[in-house]
Amino acid sequence: MADLRIGVAGCAGRMGQTLLKQIAATPGCAIGGGTERPGHAAIGQDAAALVGLKATGARVFYDPAALFDACDAVIDFTAPEATVRHAALAAGRRKILIAGTTGLKPEQEQALRMAAVTATIVYAANMSVGVNVLLQVTKQVAALLGPDFDIEVLEMHHKHKVDAPSGTALALGRAAAAGRKVKLDEVAVRARDGITGARKAGDIGFATLRGGSVVGDHTVMFASDSERIELTHKAQDRSLFSSGAVRAALWARGKPAGLYGMNDVLGFKD
Ligand code: NAD
Repeated sequence: MADLRIGVAGCAGRMGQTLLKQIAATPGCAIGGGTERPGHAAIGQDAAALVGLKATGARVFYDPAALFDACDAVIDFTAPEATVRHAALAAGRRKILIAGTTGLKPEQEQALRMAAVTATIVYAANMSVGVNVLLQVTKQVAALLGPDFDIEVLEMHHKHKVDAPSGTALALGRAAAAGRKVKLDEVAVRARDGITGARKAGDIGFATLRGGSVVGDHTVMFASDSERIELTHKAQDRSLFSSGAVRAALWARGKPAGLYGMNDVLGFKD
């Protein structure tokens, strides 16, 4: 089988550069090119050379349509508006989009669902295998412990992160809510400040820390009056996300159109 040509949207970003290296190192994959936002210095350069690899002739485009035309699949870790545009391009060409961008609003997620009528889209706030296992465990622990335990989700990321709480923290909150058979939107307390009053039973709280170069730490706490369980995941470097994203692109090859998650890619039952 020919190599899967994978393009990287936002290829000069922190995740973009990690992804280019991951694609080059993965058997069965080839760098198909990249994109960057208008005016970026990387546009016109060789995508592989951008990360210190031997040039392959795959370019960094300014036009995402050109990237989709040059590739079988595009991996996108950019910004919500760009990801929605990329989903429409994937839909028009019936191609694969692996969307890792976080901070999408509900209407932007709805746009991804619409695009997935004709495109094969894998969308996940966290592409790491470990975090996806933690999501499963969180749901089970929330169900087992029941309402006597208060649930809080704590996360820390590097100082450049623009959205809060992280997409992964929200996904962990949704997993805990699912374990309790409630909707996260109805019980989430996303920030606290000032005279908040006592904690309401059943709330799921979030706390956000930002600083330094932390790749991503998440803890789900279950606290009762007499004991506490803490489930923690710490990302050591960005390759755990890029290897998951490339694995998702290979998995999506030949799959029917639809909106999938990492639980589908990893074969976990919901
Ligand atoms: P970053 O700022 O380092 O990189 C983003 C890149 O996208 C930049 O180079 C930027 O110029 C480029 N970009 C922005 N708009 C664009 C457009 N319209 N067209 C082309 N390129 C465009 O950020 P990052 O740390 O790499 O994170 C990017 C996103 O990925 C964030 O939403 C982050 O939360 C998310 N993320 C997800 C996972 C996951 O596993 N799903 C893991 C890490 C980061």
